[in-house]
Order: sequence, then C-alpha cells, then structure tokens
Amino acid sequence: MNKTKKTKILIIGSGPAGYTAALYAARANLDPIIITGLNQGGQLMNTTEIENWPTTYSNISGSDLMELFLSNVKKFNTEIIIDNIINANLKKRPFILTGDSGTDYICESVIIATGSSPKKLGLDSEEEFLGKGVSYCATCDGMFYKDKNVVVIGGGNTAIEDALYLSNICRNVTLVHRHDKFRAEPILLDRINNKVSKNIISIRTFYTINKIEGTEDKLTNIVLLSSKNNSLENIATDGVFIAIGHNPNTNIFNDLMKTKEGYIITRKDDKNFQTMTSIEGIFAAGDVQDNIYRQAITSSGTGCMAALDAQRWLEKNDV
Ligand SMILES: Cc1cc2nc3c(=O)[nH]c(=O)nc-3n(C[C@H](O)[C@H](O)[C@H](O)COP(=O)(O)OP(=O)(O)OC[C@H]3O[C@@H](n4cnc5c(N)ncnc54)[C@H](O)[C@@H]3O)c2cc1C
Repeated sequence: MNKTKKTKILIIGSGPAGYTAALYAARANLDPIIITGLNQGGQLMNTTEIENWPTTYSNISGSDLMELFLSNVKKFNTEIIIDNIINANLKKRPFILTGDSGTDYICESVIIATGSSPKKLGLDSEEEFLGKGVSYCATCDGMFYKDKNVVVIGGGNTAIEDALYLSNICRNVTLVHRHDKFRAEPILLDRINNKVSKNIISIRTFYTINKIEGTEDKLTNIVLLSSKNNSLENIATDGVFIAIGHNPNTNIFNDLMKTKEGYIITRKDDKNFQTMTSIEGIFAAGDVQDNIYRQAITSSGTGCMAALDAQRWLEKNDV
C-alpha cells in the first residue's frame, strides 16, 4: 500500500518554471507541493555562466541562480519533495500521481514543469568540454564567443537559426551537417546562403563530429569524419554549438493529453486559462510546452502564468 500525500496543487519539476509556479501558488495561500525530479534546479544546474537573467548584473553560475530561486520558494509555504513522478492517473479528479519513492500524490490540480533535455551527440569528449566550449544554446552562450570562430552541428531549423544568430556575433561560423539536404525553411536557407557568399558562414556537408579536443580548460579543435570517404579532418575552433534538437520530458504524459512532437499543447487561445492542457485542471509551463524560446526567463514567465491560471481555475471550481 502506497503512502499518500494530498494537496490542492502539485508542481512537477524544480527548474525556473516549477520554482516560479511554486512561489506564486504559495503566495496565493495554496500550500503547493513541488516534486523536484532527479535534477533539482533543472537544466541551468549544468551551466557555469549566465549573463541573460535580467536582474543579475555580474555573471552568475546556473547553480547559484537556482539556489536563489529555491531560497525564495522556501520563504513561503511550499513543501519541497525529492521524488520523481513515474505514473499519472489523470482520468478524474482528484488526480493521482505516483513517485518512485512509492508515494501517491493526490491533488486537485497539477502544473507540469518537467522541462526538456538537449539531444546529445553521445561522445565522451562532448561531456568533457561541456561549459568549456561545448554548448547546446546559442542564445544563452553566443556572446561568450564574440569575434571568435565557432562550429554549429545540425541541419534543422534550430541549427540554421543558431548559425545565423552566431554569425552576428562571431568572426566565423562553420555549419556542419551529416547530409547535404537541410531540413530548415527555405527563407532561412536563403539567409544562410547570403552569409556564405560574404564568407561569414561556411558549410561542411557529409561530415559528423568524431572527437572534440582541447586543453584542460578549453576546447581548441574538433575532428570531423567524412561520411563519403571516412577521412578525418581537424578544424580549429573556439566553440561547438550542438543544435540537433531537444527531447521534452513528457514520457509519462504523452498518451494522456494532447502533445505535438512530444511537447505538451496548452490552450494558447483560451483567454482565461492559456496554460491549461487538453485536460481540465492540468497546466503546463516552461520548456515542456515550448519548442521555440527555451529560456529561463520564458520558463519563469509561463510558470507564473500557470500558477495564476491554476489558482483561478481552483476558485472557479470551488476547491
Ligand atoms: C547547458 C545549458 C545552458 C543554458 N544556459 C541558459 C542561459 O544562459 N540562459 C537562459 O535563459 N537559459 C539557458 N538555458 C536554457 C534553460 O536552462 C531552460 O530554458 C530552462 O531551464 C527551462 O526551465 P524549465 O523549468 O522549463 O525546465 P528544466 O530547467 O528543464 O527543469 C525541469 C525539472 O523537471 C524535473 N523533472 C523532469 N521529469 C520529472 C519527473 N518525471 N518527475 C519530477 N520531476 C521531473 C527535473 O528534475 C527538473 O527539475 C540553458 C540550457 C542548457 C542545457
């Protein structure tokens, strides 16, 4: 028999979206429970420097920023539970979500803020140089490579947009793709070709990354493998942006509610409850419902919206 815990509002995830939702729900006297998941603090725990959190004047590490989020949440009445949700029964209210601790969380509303994870190449050297030249976010880290040479890996919209974004900051951008056909929109490809003609972007097709190399504290070059003739080629670079996509953390919710390519769909056109999912009483915030912006500030923003929506929805339903 599982242990049980009851709450009006269960928040799943402890990244910027989950913590912000908790802050707003707690200040509305809803006594939320937040389930941290396996990665308390979320994706930012993996980054050493953040320059685009609007209130931090000097650079701050991801873990220090998330510690500030946590301290703020702790000031108000929120129960923070280290657990990972593995099952969800959302067919009727109260909803029952089960953690791998063996606890059933019985709740009237849920905010899903489980985030997403960038897809990785799977190289050992990729982990070794994470934060020392390897990045999964051009918007976040591009400025650290001002007037430097960088490589972008990928062939979809994200890779093309990243290459264009970086081309306004960096000295030179090399776009590496394993095929010669790019899956990006034609208008973006036109812009890339324009930059190629000006020697700001260069394109290497039919190549994959074989290895990332460098000194103890920074990446210096990558080794490319040609899929045409298996030859290896060394490219000197200051940074590598891996833009091969993201996986939203929605495995347990995929079959229960409307999703698109794994991302949870919210009611963006509903003037009352924009963050509500296809299930009444279940809300979503942050990267788990956003395949475009994927920033700490946008995740926080939608976390706030989800808590306000949940509060009004609970009131409307007399809970
Ligand atoms: C290396 C890197 C650097 C970045 N740098 C920046 C930057 O400089 N500036 C910026 O604005 N953005 C940056 N980003 C993007 C930013 O981290 C994300 O946009 C943001 O963290 C998304 O917040 P979130 O709350 O939606 O989800 P996440 O931060 O992904 O948090 C998800 C949370 O859900 C939890 N969870 C997942 N599954 C479960 C489950 N089954 N049960 C319970 N909990 C669960 C996890 O443990 C985690 O706590 C960076 C991302 C990466 C990867």
